[in-house]
Amino acid sequence: MEKIEKMATSGNEELKPVLITDPEEMRRRLNELRKEGKTVGLVPTMGALHYGHLSLAIAAKNETDVSVVSIFVNPTQFAPGEDFDKYPRTLDADLELLSQLGIDFVFAPSASAMYPAGFDASVHIGGVAKILEGECRPTHFDGVATVVLKLFNIVGPNIAYFGQKDFQQVAVVKKMVADLNVPVEIDMRPIIREKSGLAMSSRNEYLSAEERGQALVLSKALEKAEELIRSGVRDVSALYDEMKRVIETAPSAKIDYIYVADPDSLEEMERVAGNVVILLAVRVGATRLIDNRIVEPQR
Ligand code: AMP
Repeated sequence: MEKIEKMATSGNEELKPVLITDPEEMRRRLNELRKEGKTVGLVPTMGALHYGHLSLAIAAKNETDVSVVSIFVNPTQFAPGEDFDKYPRTLDADLELLSQLGIDFVFAPSASAMYPAGFDASVHIGGVAKILEGECRPTHFDGVATVVLKLFNIVGPNIAYFGQKDFQQVAVVKKMVADLNVPVEIDMRPIIREKSGLAMSSRNEYLSAEERGQALVLSKALEKAEELIRSGVRDVSALYDEMKRVIETAPSAKIDYIYVADPDSLEEMERVAGNVVILLAVRVGATRLIDNRIVEPQR
């Protein structure tokens, strides 16, 4: 994180990203650059940028010729009653951070540019999109898949960068790319955490100081599970009980799910055999938080 902090403050302030709001203009500008043989990297975000997002932007900047960060609070991935209206929108601060990194383009379309009157399409993903987040938020991943495919079609990236923070989202996007033959490489990057262990998230802004302390039970539970696996525990129900115990030390925490799975298929495991991903969703007060950890027992 210190490295990212340094990069975020040592950039050339004259390298302001070009802000584009019109999808057709975005496509046109990138087509021209692609004709010159340039590669394109895309980081899809909903803005309110923090170091987690910036780590992805830095990867795009370092690995492709033209870096694009999209900022779009996508209405179709929020269900009625979720936090679409109160989701933080901080475009000016976001642009400032990205200009310090030397990002080339920010694509920030309006909702009506992405979903004009009469818009009537949706990408539906089964299997990996049905469990966990898909069970708690049944319309969420179709909204994600639809907007991500639109962004891919507008930007045409060679590589798209996603955070492990939303592990299931990456699995859904990979499935969409495989099943629909979308010509893009999906690069998943590690979770960036605060020093306390709390996974960075735009939604952490909703937490009171007291809740922020209680939210540490997510990363602590995951750490505990890794420790147990490393000490030889293979029975998933024992891991589950111990993680539940850690989470329940926070009076405002309510578990939505704890899930131990094969990281490739997301199939649930009863015994740890090989690499696993442990996924958590926990409500702390009114805020729903997710976190996960990949454990490689042989390492
Ligand atoms: P969002 O703006 O929440 O849609 O996130 C945009 C991208 O940033 C997604 O690919 C997220 O997985 C990623 N991201 C969010 N938080 C973090 C984090 N703490 N570490 C790494 N990536 C993150």
